[in-house]
Amino acid sequence: MSRREVLEVDVLVVGGGPAGLAAALHLSRLLDGRGRGDVTVALLEKGREIGAHAISGAVMDPRGIAELMPDWRARGAPIEAPVTADRVYFLTRRRRFGLPFVPPPLRNDGHVVVSLNRLVRWLGGIVEDAGVDVFAGFAGAALLIEDGRVAGVRTDDKGVDRGGRKKANYAPGIDVRARLTVLAEGARGSLTRQLVERLGLDAGRNPQVYSIGVKEVWETAGERVTPGRVIHTMGYPLTRREFGGGFVYTMSGGRVSVGLVVGLDYHDARLDPHELFQDFKRHPLVADLLAGGTLRAYGAKAIPEGGYWAMPRYFADGALIVGDAAGFLNPMRLKGVHLGLKSGMLAAETAAEAIEADDCTGRVLRRFEERVETSWIRPELWRARNFHQGFRGGLWAGLAHAALQTATGGRGVRNRYPSRPGHERMRPIRGKPRRAAALPDGKLTFDKLTDVYHSGTAHEEDQPVHLVVTEPDICHERCTEEYGNPCQYFCPAAVYAMRPDAGGRPRLEIAASNCVHCKTCDIMDPYQVIRWDCPEGGGGPGYDLL
Ligand code: SF4
Repeated sequence: MSRREVLEVDVLVVGGGPAGLAAALHLSRLLDGRGRGDVTVALLEKGREIGAHAISGAVMDPRGIAELMPDWRARGAPIEAPVTADRVYFLTRRRRFGLPFVPPPLRNDGHVVVSLNRLVRWLGGIVEDAGVDVFAGFAGAALLIEDGRVAGVRTDDKGVDRGGRKKANYAPGIDVRARLTVLAEGARGSLTRQLVERLGLDAGRNPQVYSIGVKEVWETAGERVTPGRVIHTMGYPLTRREFGGGFVYTMSGGRVSVGLVVGLDYHDARLDPHELFQDFKRHPLVADLLAGGTLRAYGAKAIPEGGYWAMPRYFADGALIVGDAAGFLNPMRLKGVHLGLKSGMLAAETAAEAIEADDCTGRVLRRFEERVETSWIRPELWRARNFHQGFRGGLWAGLAHAALQTATGGRGVRNRYPSRPGHERMRPIRGKPRRAAALPDGKLTFDKLTDVYHSGTAHEEDQPVHLVVTEPDICHERCTEEYGNPCQYFCPAAVYAMRPDAGGRPRLEIAASNCVHCKTCDIMDPYQVIRWDCPEGGGGPGYDLL
């Protein structure tokens, strides 16, 4: 029988995105500065390399990276372009109406267009050079919790077949035991979810609400594309009942980042974010820009939009939660990278203090919250605290609330707007879908499988299905009747399909190897019977340019 190995470290960071890397780098430097080179810092990343799962729009406010690394430009941070122009349009199906001014939260003076996964890959190299042990291709399968205290993470077992049997290459996961674990898994992280549920860290908070962002990067001939142009849109292809909007960011070398964000609190059970994204590209504003170009990359991710009131308590005995995992994101500005970096740094300062004091209990770790509350994170999140909730009544009410919130420092009509989980807002199907979807043409628009191909996604095929349906009968009976199996629509990677079995009855089929790890199914399933577990480490997207 294979024995489970145990690895002892002082601080374990789970997740190699901006927040996790900032935490690891800043901590390593702080420890070096205090002559504590003996303290071990390790980082687990489920992607096959650092950056493989990192995706964002992205227009970055450089405030966070400049604090982490004042010489970030001189050190060759991969920047696509400084922002040179900002525009906001309201779209109808064929036309666009430019807003006469750019609302203050959407102004990007001094900001830069980046490919997040390239930025993160670059930062990952610096983190390794700083002495952090980076283990890419290792997923956190379970938290080690002892007497209510987080004691580390058990990594995934390797070499288990679809039926749960050990294969010839079986290797049990490692218990990475740590005095302090920093969870930086990104939105709807599976370990973070375990911790929040087990310790009730979300008691008294608003439920977290999410959007899904679906995006592509295109290569165009270049002469039409001036790097650094930032366009945000409202309206088409979304209706006034749905939250979200489109974006177009021009990069260097004629590349264009184009995407659509859709609030995961929509009513229409047959809404398909990927299909709406194809409609967005058909709009002349986008189609003219992409004409003659080539699709280079595709990806999707969930975005935590609930804001300040929806953040769980982000410290516990033996653990801190940073970045998107805790909801450090400004939904009003559509930005989270700078907040992720800063939250990682503040967690690092708290970790250094806790290690020095040899006390990683919540008593010392609550200093993380105090640091956040006295840093520039707090006023930024406070001003946006009610933003997403203000759109509960649709676009026009949402814009009115947003204007009022801007004028009142984020308050609006009350200090704390109520909220409910997004999946509860989905309504049972009635009648026909809102309209028949146009077929993709393979030039400007694509089906989901073609897009998945461009995400570089690959998983070990013979492994347990990581999308766990806890009550399949609900899918086959109630959900078919009441909601028409919305997983077929909201998944941007064609993972779910209803197909007839030998007896002609519709059965749910799950093509788990297509999964781009966006977590939408875990969030938006109306019965909450789909659980996203981490697949074998190293599997998932292989993002580049995103
Ligand atoms: Fe996203 Fe779930 Fe589809 Fe994977 S299966 S791509 S997590 S919706």
